[in-house]
Amino acid sequence: MAKTFLVVAEARGGKLRQVSFEALRAAQLSAAEGDAIHAALIGGSGTKALASELTAYGAESIYVVEDAALDNYNSEAYLSALLAVTGVVKPNALYYGHTAAGRDLAPLAAAKLGAGQLSDVTEISRSGDRVEFTRPLYAGKAVEKKAFTDPNGPWVVTIRPNNIAPQAPDATRQASVIDVAYPAPSLRSIIREVVKKTSGAIDLAEAKIVVSGGRGVRSAEGFQPLEELAAVLGGAVGASRGACDAGYCEYAMQIGQTGKVVTPEIYIACGISGAIQHLAGMSSSRVIIAINKDAEAPIFKVADYGIVGDLFEVVPLLTEEFRQLLK
Ligand code: FAD
Repeated sequence: MAKTFLVVAEARGGKLRQVSFEALRAAQLSAAEGDAIHAALIGGSGTKALASELTAYGAESIYVVEDAALDNYNSEAYLSALLAVTGVVKPNALYYGHTAAGRDLAPLAAAKLGAGQLSDVTEISRSGDRVEFTRPLYAGKAVEKKAFTDPNGPWVVTIRPNNIAPQAPDATRQASVIDVAYPAPSLRSIIREVVKKTSGAIDLAEAKIVVSGGRGVRSAEGFQPLEELAAVLGGAVGASRGACDAGYCEYAMQIGQTGKVVTPEIYIACGISGAIQHLAGMSSSRVIIAINKDAEAPIFKVADYGIVGDLFEVVPLLTEEFRQLLK
């Protein structure tokens, strides 16, 4: 029986998030010949204009729920918009990015649809009807492979950002764009104002390069050299909880067990000891570079490259070197 996959795309600041294309690819890897892959695009004014990009990445139809009430993410409002789309599409499987919104919405949708759910998937393989999902466990120390018992679903799956490469976009692809009316439910809560805590333009969870600071940066000003390095590399700045607890930076920057999980191509840890709770949020990074003045610091056990030295000397040297190289 041919299956229908529905990928929920996510936009922020008028742009589709990269993980939306990765979730589309995840659906493509899960689908067999003849299966349909559609996308749901939910948001405020101007959302529909983003449909063409989803077409280029391979969505066959894009179901758009656009309403001013969806300008800011709200669980109840987005869930009712999503259920309006699933009511039309009747998907066997629903895919979402493992983002803050995805982590909120996916289990709600799974409960409403009576679906099984798998979160934080990093790899997908398919043989015949069986689709196998890989996800990390125990702070990345182990992985598990799982499959749904009923191949026809319904399933709900969230995809960890930066793990499944999207297919190359093709602007000549065609798709139908279908409007779905926002059901305008009566909401128990409304968003009055969104106050952004971080000014960084690059989303930490999706950044290809992350420069992180720990208690070793010694002050809020101590993050300045890290910000300069991140700016030269086009990366984002993160932090250990040690740095957040000390008041050097916002908790929104915290990486680890109780912070964000990141899997960038390059993670540069500056003045971070490498506690197990920090490793939980970054140990799956492709290349880890550690800068620490203590040669015995545990971070060096997970680092691909280690620099024993004072970060206030090493980081500006790296910044200057990259500035010259990337000129
Ligand atoms: P420290 O351990 O104090 O390390 C500072 C490092 O900087 C040292 O290695 C030192 O050698 C080095 N250093 C100092 N000066 C310099 C310099 N000038 N140049 C170079 N190196 C220098 N932590 C997280 O990060 N994320 C989490 O999500 C998290 N969740 C937690 C959840 C629980 C339940 C608990 C109990 C703890 C959690 N922690 C978390 C805290 C964690 O255990 C550590 O305390 C924390 O990660 C330490 O932060 P740090 O490495 O910045 O500080």
